[in-house]
Order: sequence, then structure tokens, then C-alpha cells
Amino acid sequence: MKAMLLETPGRALRLVEWPRPQPDAGQILLAVRACGVCRTDLHVFDGELQQARLPLVLGHEIVGRVVEKGAGVERFALGQRVGVPWLGRTCGHCPECARGCENLCTEAEFTGYTLDGGYAEFALADQRYCFALPDCYSDAEAAPLLCAGLIGYRSLMATGEARRLGIYGFGAAAHIIAQVAHWQGRELYAFTKPGDLPGQDFARQMGADWAGGADQAPPEELDAAIIFAPAGELVPQALRHTAKGGTVVCAGIHMSDIPAFPYAILWGERCIRSIANLTRQDGEAFFAVAPRAGVRTEVTTFPLASANEALQRLRAGQVQGAAVLVVD
Ligand SMILES: [Zn+2]
Ligand SMILES: [Zn+2]
Repeated sequence: MKAMLLETPGRALRLVEWPRPQPDAGQILLAVRACGVCRTDLHVFDGELQQARLPLVLGHEIVGRVVEKGAGVERFALGQRVGVPWLGRTCGHCPECARGCENLCTEAEFTGYTLDGGYAEFALADQRYCFALPDCYSDAEAAPLLCAGLIGYRSLMATGEARRLGIYGFGAAAHIIAQVAHWQGRELYAFTKPGDLPGQDFARQMGADWAGGADQAPPEELDAAIIFAPAGELVPQALRHTAKGGTVVCAGIHMSDIPAFPYAILWGERCIRSIANLTRQDGEAFFAVAPRAGVRTEVTTFPLASANEALQRLRAGQVQGAAVLVVD
């Protein structure tokens, strides 16, 4: 099979002929149709996340058709369309798993990081962590739901009942979750890089009531904020605009250092928290909500062999919505 391989962090992925994997018990082999390109892929590519199992096939927003089943696979039929998310496997017995927080499992494996992912013609997955996908999305449209959508949704849930919601960084996750928040009747305040007027227009199209630069103050105090951009300086910025009792949610897996800030902007029972990974329950909940909320995804597609270009465009902030690799 063809695969785009990460051999050395920081060095371009290489298109290679790679052995097609064989499913073990409980695994399915998917013919990949589409795979989203996530900001996390860039962090792995850059070596900022250091447990990557090299050489590695990146990609954890996989949409594919089941072409082979290992022993004991009953959840999915041959030919069925399946989605594979970031959470690839958990141990089921550590203290975190035991209390229902499988997203925090200490022995978890992650697709496209510690397990090979979807920047390839075929991908293996443990059937227990895969999702059936709503029919209303094409393969490319469904791909970003599998991380941007899921992690975005978990982040949104972490803001509780917050009515006035700020979103910092308006990429793939924000454009999905803005639609859910709008559907839930929240007021949405979108912050982009200063001067990114096309990004601010896009945010308003996706349901934002207000859009401006991250250096601007919103017209109203926020009840909560979600930070999708990996920039630590946004944490005190968001805190300054968040009301007493409000939460600032850091949704990314990696962020630059958070600068020191005065205690006064945290005082008043404001919280800063992170969101790590996802649970299968998040996925089931989100895939039920997305079609009801009328979520649509805006995707820019690239052929598999152009994965390096997709990563560079994402890094440069030149992708509106989500970048997705498609396999013919
Ligand atoms: Zn565990
Ligand atoms: Zn991701």
C-alpha cells in the first residue's frame, strides 16, 4: 500500500510502498477514503510530542470502509463506513479507566501517534474505539468530525451552561463547535489572529455573533472561553475577558508556555483547565448531536501524496475550516 511516512521529526513525510497491515483479533482493516489533517499532526511532525513510534503514519481522523475483519469482530460489517478517532486503545483497568475517565488512561494508545494512522491507503483499528458515522456527511466532510469535532465538543461541554462563549483560534475545531454552540442558543465571540479579516468573516458565517482579533476586547464579558490556538499568551488574555466563576478551557494537546499573570485576573473563582483526548461516550454523544444541530464541515481536500503541502498550509493558517487528505 502507499503511505506517507514520518521517519524523522521535522523532515518531510515520504511517500513509500509499505506492507499492508493484517488485522489481529478485534481489529478491522479499513480502506482509507479520507483522513483529516489536525493541528496535533503538526505537533507530532515537529517533535513537540515525544512518544511517537517512528517510523509513523500520521492521521487520526480516518474515514474508511471495512475490508477485512480480525477474529471476533462483530460491531461492523464488511463494506461498512467507519470512523477512527485519536483514542486508539485503553487498558480498561488503571484507576482512570476504572472511574470512567478512559481519556486519561495512563496506558492509552493513540492513532497516528503511538499507532499508525490514516495517511495511507489502509489503516488498522481496534473495533471497540471506532464509530459508525452519520450518512449525511461525505467521507471528506465526516473526517474532521473525528477529532476537531469530538475534542471541540468535549471542550464545549467543559464550559457548562456558559451563555457568552469566547473561542480563541478559529480553525477546524472552532468552525464545527461554533455551529453546535449557536444551535444551543449561546452567544459566540470568535477571536482570530489580529488582522485576519477573512477568518473573522468565516467565523461570523459559522454562527459567531462577534468576531475580532485576539488582541481585542469582546463587547460583552465572557462566561467561558475555549482556546484552540496553541499559544500560551492567550490564557491570560482570555482570563481578562472572562466573568467571575467562568472557565477558560485549553483544548489543545500542546501549547507554548503561559506567561506569568496577576492573580487578580484568576481570582473570583475563575478556572483554567485543559481537555485531554476523548472518551467513546463523547463520540457517541457528538455523532448524535452533529446532524441534529445541522453541523456542516468546510473542507479543503488534498490527495494523499500532498500531505506535506496540507501540513504546511495548516501551519501557515491558510486552510479555512479543515484540511482533509482523500484517497482515490
Ligand atoms: Zn487505563
Ligand atoms: Zn486531532
